[in-house]
Amino acid sequence: MAEPTQDQIDELVAVAIAVRGMAYAPFSKFYVGAAILDNEGRVFSGVNVENSSYGLTICAERTAAGTAITAGAKEFVAVAVATPGAAAPCGACRQFLYEFGPRCTVLLVDSETGAVKHTATLDEFLPSGFRLSS
Ligand SMILES: [Zn+2]
Repeated sequence: MAEPTQDQIDELVAVAIAVRGMAYAPFSKFYVGAAILDNEGRVFSGVNVENSSYGLTICAERTAAGTAITAGAKEFVAVAVATPGAAAPCGACRQFLYEFGPRCTVLLVDSETGAVKHTATLDEFLPSGFRLSS
């Protein structure tokens, strides 16, 4: 598993913060931006998209992952998530991302300051995640 460079981390943080304003969060008002770096050095972004039928809401991390996979990404190297207070990905997103990068670097970004508040590998966030493929 490749490690992201500092330049790549800086880019991911900037993208996650930049897209956050596009989130559709009229109910929670909790705007989230995510950016994923794949093993080819490409960056994909996503935001949370809420729905009047609350259970259909999708998180920014999964939106970004869907965009990445649609573009042909196979392996995630790093994921930046920007929220007020640098919230960690929910359990569903941890499992969803685990499919494509169990050892990827997860960066929790405070969207108000731009600071990376916490960095850990995904399998630190989700020990013994479920994965059928190797
Ligand atoms: Zn989530």
